[in-house]
Amino acid sequence: MVDIDNSKTNIEASYLRLSRTGELHRRVEALETLLERCTVCPRDCLNNRLKDEIAACYSGRLPIVSSYTPHFGEEPPLVGTRGAGNIFFGNCNLRCVYCQNYQISQTHKEQIKNEVTHERLAEMMLELQARGCHNINFVSPTHFAPQMARAILIAAEQGLRLPIVYNTNAYDSVEVLRLLDGIVDVYLPDLKYAEDEAGYLYSKVKGYKEYARLAIAEMYRQVGDELVFGADGLVKRGLVIRLLVLPNDIGGVRESLEWIKDELSPRVAVSLMAQYYPTHQAATSKRHVLLSRRITETEWMRAVTALDGLEMEEGWMQEFDGAAYYYRPDFENRETPFKDIRDFAS
Ligand code: SF4
Repeated sequence: MVDIDNSKTNIEASYLRLSRTGELHRRVEALETLLERCTVCPRDCLNNRLKDEIAACYSGRLPIVSSYTPHFGEEPPLVGTRGAGNIFFGNCNLRCVYCQNYQISQTHKEQIKNEVTHERLAEMMLELQARGCHNINFVSPTHFAPQMARAILIAAEQGLRLPIVYNTNAYDSVEVLRLLDGIVDVYLPDLKYAEDEAGYLYSKVKGYKEYARLAIAEMYRQVGDELVFGADGLVKRGLVIRLLVLPNDIGGVRESLEWIKDELSPRVAVSLMAQYYPTHQAATSKRHVLLSRRITETEWMRAVTALDGLEMEEGWMQEFDGAAYYYRPDFENRETPFKDIRDFAS
């Protein structure tokens, strides 16, 4: 077993303090109340998930985990030498036509077989800790935020010590995020679009821009613009905003960068991503011809220039060459859906 004594980094995961005071238990109960007439995300479906009524995200009372594994494709200070401890939830509250994880995000009839108990989810977290992972990185956690919190509570009581990373599409409810204050250590949101029209056309949700900006502003309120690093050089607390460059400027990267700089802070860490490749409906449907190719080097350089021009210096960017190839996951291989790569530059 690998030594994962987090005390060596001198920074305690924040949920441990909430656990000691009983506040974590209260938060979990408040989050679970939201499942009764589901307002867990901005879709506000109002279905009773405690009775397994399903709606837009096809998800009921129990969490669905499609894969859990050490992962080396995240930003360097999350990956370290032993990987981020990724837990990929099944289903999603968005329907991105280009989703690279579509095998698990948009196949709800198949995903139901991956439903697990809260105790089993807690056990997965402890397994990842025992394998030496540096954090627990919940991927697409929005629709399972209450279940995630319940599992953290159970795992904390059984020895979990790792920081919690909330790796989200940002279509999150501010009320939920407030309840996650002090449970989540590192927020890792995508900011997908700068216009609602693109959110509706390509991810099938209304009001993406406003909801995502409200959500990220709440994340910023909680953790600020400073990344807190442990003695091991890895990030323990903070906010990193991901911007995936899409072809034909569909994401509006410059507008999102300007919003981050003006409304949050120029010191917020940004992760600029070149890994887009057409997959799922973007690869097959004539309706999405604007998304039917990789980005060009010119499009990439335009995004890099915008970042430089705004003098936003905190964060990372991917290498242009090769990123799209390496990030193609295959969730048929549940143990290791991603190839191991480390191609971010700071
Ligand atoms: S979490 Fe799912 S059921 Fe709840 S509001 Fe969002 S999409 Fe609807």
